[in-house]
Amino acid sequence: MSQYGMETFAQSDDVRKQQLVDANRILAHQNILDGFGHVSVRSVQNPLHFFQARSRAPALVDLDDIREFDENSELFESRDEALYGERFIHGEMYRARPDVQAVVHSHSFAAIPFGVAGIPLRPLCHQAAFLRGQVPVFEIRDAAGADNSMLITNCNLGAAVAAAMASAPAVLMRGHGNTVVAANLKQLVYRAIYTEINARLVLESLRLGTGLNYLNEYETANMADIADRAVDRPWEIWRRAAMTSSAP
Ligand SMILES: [Zn+2]
Repeated sequence: MSQYGMETFAQSDDVRKQQLVDANRILAHQNILDGFGHVSVRSVQNPLHFFQARSRAPALVDLDDIREFDENSELFESRDEALYGERFIHGEMYRARPDVQAVVHSHSFAAIPFGVAGIPLRPLCHQAAFLRGQVPVFEIRDAAGADNSMLITNCNLGAAVAAAMASAPAVLMRGHGNTVVAANLKQLVYRAIYTEINARLVLESLRLGTGLNYLNEYETANMADIADRAVDRPWEIWRRAAMTSSAP
């Protein structure tokens, strides 16, 4: 594990829960999450468990809304309240990927065309180098057949999304959205925002012509670690902007 990862792993669950509130607010303010979508962080104390808000719009999430979920994505302490219907994406990512500490599932718009048009999403700008190669696409019909709900509403479907992602940092979900994973919440927010920006840049570039000049394997490898570690600076300003905008 990298030094950065060790520092992150040393965080307490209390620190993670506060950062999770911030991540909700930032991702909503940056238009990655709207009334839908959700973000989570793995528990340090119970590493198969994770923290996530109850069913609430991410821009409104407070510390009081954060709940602990078990390895089957069910509430650790039972309560009678609404939960995110697609929370199974998160539990199955944590089960399949020991390297993953944070997960976001969003319906951010610019990435969706790459799940339906047969044009792969690849890193075009240096800040999206973490995408490395082609972002895999999850086809729910392969897991649930043609007569499906498009939603990931149980552990089996969550596991199928995790299998489609394999060891990648992101997976597109055809006609639906995407899921991004990271080693900590700051890196996760960075990755989710730049996945969307990179998708926008590819769409803009395709208007100018085909045969786009993407980052090559050396450029992605050399830049990915740099970008993944440079997350404190944007986090600070994204957090300030989100908090200012949501102040009463
Ligand atoms: Zn969804």
